[in-house]
Amino acid sequence: MSSYLIRSAALADGTPTDILVRDGVIAELGSGLDASGTVTIDADGLIALPGLVDLHTHLREPGFEQSETVLSGSMAAAAGGFTVVHAMANTSPVADTAGVVEQVQALGEAAGYVTVRPVGAVTVGLGGVQLAELGAMASSRAAVRVFSDDGKCVWDALIMRRALEYVKAFDGVIAQHAQEPRLTEDAQMNEGTLSGELGLAGWPAVAEEAIIARDVLLAEHVGSRVHICHLSTAGSVDVVRWAKARGIAVTAEVTPHHLLLDEQLVSNYDAKFKVNPPLRRVEDVQALREGLADGTIDIVATDHAPHPLEAKECEWNSAAFGMVGLESALSVVQEAVVDAGHLGWSDVARVLSQKPAEIGRLAGYRHGIVAGAPANLTLYDPQAERDFGVGQLQGRSINSPYLGRRLPGRVVSTIHNGYATVLDGELVDADTVAGHGVLHG
Ligand SMILES: [Zn+2]
Repeated sequence: MSSYLIRSAALADGTPTDILVRDGVIAELGSGLDASGTVTIDADGLIALPGLVDLHTHLREPGFEQSETVLSGSMAAAAGGFTVVHAMANTSPVADTAGVVEQVQALGEAAGYVTVRPVGAVTVGLGGVQLAELGAMASSRAAVRVFSDDGKCVWDALIMRRALEYVKAFDGVIAQHAQEPRLTEDAQMNEGTLSGELGLAGWPAVAEEAIIARDVLLAEHVGSRVHICHLSTAGSVDVVRWAKARGIAVTAEVTPHHLLLDEQLVSNYDAKFKVNPPLRRVEDVQALREGLADGTIDIVATDHAPHPLEAKECEWNSAAFGMVGLESALSVVQEAVVDAGHLGWSDVARVLSQKPAEIGRLAGYRHGIVAGAPANLTLYDPQAERDFGVGQLQGRSINSPYLGRRLPGRVVSTIHNGYATVLDGELVDADTVAGHGVLHG
């Protein structure tokens, strides 16, 4: 196996250190470590973060390989500093059986850039009517712990109740895409003054907040845990804050784009800003930042949603919802909440690594960067700036809302399971990385 000596990095709390990586684990931390037999990585001026963990990624394979594959999405993830992604179930076929989740897991292992953890569908075919084989997926080789119909809401309260009850047996979690379907029929953007001016059908905040309120109460009633995907409104933050104060086992995520972008960007009808849930008001963006800072929102998750060009370069009403986000996530988090003073780098390590790993019941990320832990690391240069263009994108689709924008920070190196996947800002080639995706620890 490869050995690396990372010289003069700063841990998230600012502590300077060398990091010795050997046999897939962090062998030693300290100063002046022996470099013999290792590849030396100069990390002066870089922050060493624990490998980033995304709880919400659309890899599109099987079925939509023109948008993304497990390999291309894994490369995008590594380029963004991620070492784990949770692959959403809205593929074709839907990941609603042990066979499909094992297939996705195997593709991830073959690619090797990141650990791919399949998310299982809650209902058969995402149909919302019949529970999928949750137990079979949990006991499969993929050991699924996160279940979601993401893209669709589990709208039927009885199905949601049964799903929450079922996953208790294996400590699973239901990740809800909170969107009341009747209130959002044909909805195109946030409902408010601007949607009226633009003549686009409104997507009311209450459609999200009402489902979250229902589901935290259901989770409390059956004594299970629920995770809320991509919070986008101030009211959603209030509901989750109330539920946590009451002791309900709820966790919540926010996307980088909802932390930075607001509905004004929709004004020119550019569909690269069309996303589900929609970009909201400036007041909502502010509430999301505050909710993340005070722990109401547990994690940042990308909701990386690749779409081919023709699905986005068309008139607003017929364009697809979604944005790619893996390669830009850390920079957007830096701009929206670190440079803006809401979070420190230790908080970033928590919301982008430790906590998402904990929600996904993933071993090896609990303690961050300590001796003996699996070597999953991200070296990040917060002083760098980059003009974000298609050259920054490693996935198969380019529907990023940040193209042409200047973003702070740059991922310099990523180490996954003891192997470099990114060195000096360049992806290590696929043949070298292949086969390193098996989970350690
Ligand atoms: Zn969603």
